[in-house]
Amino acid sequence: MTEVATQSDTARTPEVREYDVVIIGAGLTGMHQLLTVRELGLSVRVIEAGSGVGGTWYWNRYPGARLDSESYSYQYAFDKELLDEWQWKEMFASQPELEAYYNRVADKHEIRKDVDFDTRIASMVFDESTDTWDLVSTEGTRYRAKVVVAATGILSDPNFPNIPGLENFKGEWHHTAMWPKEKVDFTGKRVAVIGTGATGVQVIPEVAKTAGHLTVFQRTANWAVPLRNRPLSDEDMSEIRDGYPEMFEKLRNSFSGFLHSWDPVKSTDVSVDERDARYEEAWNSPGFTKWIGLYNDLAYDAEANKIYCDFLASKIRERINDPAIADKVIPDDHYFGTKRVPCETNYYETYNRDNVDLILLKENPIEEFTEKGVRTADGEMEFDIIVLATGFDAFTGALNQIDIEGLNGATLREKWKDGPKTYLGIQVAGFPNFFIMGGPHGKGGHGNGPRCAEPVIEWMATVINDIFTHPWGRIEADPEAERLWTQDVVDAAAGTLQATAKSIFFGDNIEGKPRVYVAYLGSLPEFVQRLNAVRDEGYRGFILS
Ligand code: NAP
Repeated sequence: MTEVATQSDTARTPEVREYDVVIIGAGLTGMHQLLTVRELGLSVRVIEAGSGVGGTWYWNRYPGARLDSESYSYQYAFDKELLDEWQWKEMFASQPELEAYYNRVADKHEIRKDVDFDTRIASMVFDESTDTWDLVSTEGTRYRAKVVVAATGILSDPNFPNIPGLENFKGEWHHTAMWPKEKVDFTGKRVAVIGTGATGVQVIPEVAKTAGHLTVFQRTANWAVPLRNRPLSDEDMSEIRDGYPEMFEKLRNSFSGFLHSWDPVKSTDVSVDERDARYEEAWNSPGFTKWIGLYNDLAYDAEANKIYCDFLASKIRERINDPAIADKVIPDDHYFGTKRVPCETNYYETYNRDNVDLILLKENPIEEFTEKGVRTADGEMEFDIIVLATGFDAFTGALNQIDIEGLNGATLREKWKDGPKTYLGIQVAGFPNFFIMGGPHGKGGHGNGPRCAEPVIEWMATVINDIFTHPWGRIEADPEAERLWTQDVVDAAAGTLQATAKSIFFGDNIEGKPRVYVAYLGSLPEFVQRLNAVRDEGYRGFILS
C-alpha cells in the first residue's frame, strides 16, 4: 500500500506550493476547468494521479473501450479551431482515438505545464484561520489553495470484487480501469473475465478473438444493445462539421446531452405493427436510438417496458446458437434502461465460439482466487490471465479515497456515510470553497459527460471569479439548502422503474454501501436553469462570508 503522508508529517516538509485554485483531476472536466480559471488570471494547479491527461480515457485502455455517445457530440464545444481541425475516425470513438484527442487539446492549450502528473491527493484540511485548504499528496507534496475543485470523476475508483486471495494468484491480472499501457497478449492463453457490465461486454469479444480459452463469470445479466459503430469518411465529417452550431444548441437543450431524445408519443398510442416496426428500425440504428430515442413510456411504464424487453430478448436469441446460453444472458431481474445501457459489438455472438464458456456466479460462485486461478463452488479452475471488469465505486468512491476535513474537524467520509449530501451536486455544507464537479447529485451519471459538465464548468468559473473579486471570499452551502437538494434528488427516484433495479445509481454494486439514489433525474436544461437561478439570486442557499 502507498504510504500516506499525514498533515502532521508534512509540517516538517518546508515547501508549500500556493495557488489560488487547485483542481484535482486532469480528465475532460479538469482540463476544461483549468482553461476557464486561467482566463480569470488566477494561479492554478491541476493535480493528476495518472501520467497523462484524459481521465477515463487515460485509465480505461482495455481492448474494446469506446464511447457510447457519438464522438462528435462528446468533444469540447469551446474551441472552434479544434472543431474544424479534428477528424473523428469513427462514429463511436475508441479509447486510443479519445486519448489522442485529449492529448491534442493538451498540446494546443499547453495544459501540461499547469499539471502535476503522477500525484495523488491523499488528504485536504480546511484551515479556518486563513480560509484556505491544505492539501497533501501521497508522496508528501504540500499545496495550499483558497479554492479546491474536485474534478475526480464519477467512475474513477475501481471496484475490486469482494473475493479473497487475489494476491495469491501467480498469473497476470488486470482491472479494466487500471489497464497497462503495454499490450496484454491473450494469444493462446486461458483467460477469465469477471463482470458483464458496460465494460465487460466491450472487453469480452476482444479477448475471445485471440485467447486459447475464455471463461466469462457473470453475476448479473445486462440488457446490452448493438452499438452499430461505423467509420466516418471525410464527407461525413464535413457534413457533421457544417452542423456543429445547431448540434451543440440541440444538445444543450436535450434531456441528457445526447443526440437522441425520448419520443413524446407513448408506445401504447400507436398500433402494434407500427410499434414493432419502430423497434426493428431502432434495433438497426446506432447507439442510444434503441434506448432514449424511443417512446417515452419505456422509461416509466413497466408493462410497456416489458414488451420492449421481450423484443430485445428475441433479438438476443437470434444471435446465440445455444438457447440455454441465451437464457442465461437475457436479464430476468430488471427492466431495460434502468441501468445505463451497455452498447456492444459482437458480444452475444462471442458465446457461439468454441473457445468461450459462461459461468453464472449465482450457481457457481467464486470462493477465492488461488495461485493458479480461482476456486469456485464446483472446484478449482486454472487461468493465465484474469480480467476484472468489476466496475467502480461510482459517484462517491473517488472523493472518499481522500481524507477531506472541513469545518470543526468534520470529514466528508463521515458526513456521507449514510449517502451523499450536496447542494446542487456541487457543494457540501461545512466544506467552504470546495467544489465537486461531476460527483453525486449532478447530471453526469445519466448523461453525455462533457455536455453535462460544460454548463457546470462555466458556472464554476463565475463563482471562482466572484470569490476573488468580492469582499466575501468564502462560500459554503447552507445546511438547509443542502438538505432540500438532497431530498429532492432522492425523492425524484422514489417509485420510478429505476428504483426497481440494483444499480450503481443506488450503490448496489458495493457491499455495505447505503442504498440511496445519487444522480439528478431531471433534465439538463432544468438543472442548468436551477444553477443559474441560484447564482442570479446572489447565491441563494449559500453562506457568503
Ligand atoms: P458495472 O456496470 O458496475 O459492471 C461491473 C460488472 O462486474 C457487473 O457485471 C457486476 O455484477 C460485476 N461485479 C461487480 N462486483 C463483482 C463481484 N464481487 N463478483 C462478481 N461480479 C462482480 O461497471 P462497468 O461495466 O465498468 O460500467 C460502469 C459504468 O461505466 C457504466 O454504467 C457506464 O456508465 C460506464 N461505461 C461506459 C462505457 C461506454 O460504452 N462508453 C463503457 C464502459 C463503462 P452486478 O451487475 O451483479 O453488480
